[in-house]
Amino acid sequence: DGELWLDDGTVVIVANGAVAYRVYKGTLGSVSPVFRDLMADSNLKDSELMDGVPVVHVDDAPENLRHFLNFLAQPRFDTIHPMSTFPLSYASLAAVGRIGRKYQVESAVHAVTSRLLRFFAPPPTLWVDAIRSWSDRWQWWKEHNALEIQVDDAIDAVNLIRLLDEPAALPFALYLCSLCDPVQLRDGIVQEDGSIARLSDEDFGRCVRGSLFIAQASHGILQYAIGSMKQGRCQRLRVCTPVLVDYMSRAHAAGMVAESYPLSDVFIRLNFRNPEPDAYALYSGQLCSWCKEELCSWSVTAARDIFLKLSRMFDVESDTLVGRSAF
Ligand SMILES: [Zn+2]
Repeated sequence: DGELWLDDGTVVIVANGAVAYRVYKGTLGSVSPVFRDLMADSNLKDSELMDGVPVVHVDDAPENLRHFLNFLAQPRFDTIHPMSTFPLSYASLAAVGRIGRKYQVESAVHAVTSRLLRFFAPPPTLWVDAIRSWSDRWQWWKEHNALEIQVDDAIDAVNLIRLLDEPAALPFALYLCSLCDPVQLRDGIVQEDGSIARLSDEDFGRCVRGSLFIAQASHGILQYAIGSMKQGRCQRLRVCTPVLVDYMSRAHAAGMVAESYPLSDVFIRLNFRNPEPDAYALYSGQLCSWCKEELCSWSVTAARDIFLKLSRMFDVESDTLVGRSAF
């Protein structure tokens, strides 16, 4: 590999018999006890030589190892720090996490898990209260975390989170999986290295059952919001109150005829959903602006409640998990 071939490097690492990287033995050994063993004099004494330098073979995908060794060639693990604004692709974060864990590079694994937790365990108030549409919110969240990631990367992320044993990040990652195309969710996503990221049968089941809970909860939000109305600042109760009564029965009916909302909009304020729920589109225009605002704000209260129950909906260990990053 031209990019990762240090002319005075002291060891050549060959990934999958295909791509060779020449790096400094001392640097690699200083972060990884596994590599230190592989490169021990006793293990290298009969090894083949390339340009006079001993060769170590490993069975990792070349792309993954390149991402990893890049951090080593010019040590930049600090750029993975959760508060860092250094833009990182999900693929490189995942590769460093996996290689780092396999070769026991604590500093890399720690940085990756912190960054994963920051992205996949957002505090409910930060996530739910953001007054944005889904697409704006997703964009904002990626920029806020300086992570280049697609929603369907969540499929690989669930497996990575399991590997790194960071269950607090699972509920939100499984929720993002539930937003993926169902066939893609079943068949998996082709990764940079050609492998396919697919959920385990258990997590696939969790995701499908969780989606049903979320869809159900989504209907409940509208009814909860209408039922909670106090109309304390309403200037024209005689108009707004009957509208709300009609609205309530319509919301019940919508639940019965299974009017479907995009699951991505569950945690979005009513007036920022796209498309607007039928009943909301029909009645909200007839409410005074105070009542309309109160309704939308109750929808956020309800959404916050549901967000806190994500771990239960997706059947992930215990519901105190979300709390770890929330409080
Ligand atoms: Zn009103």
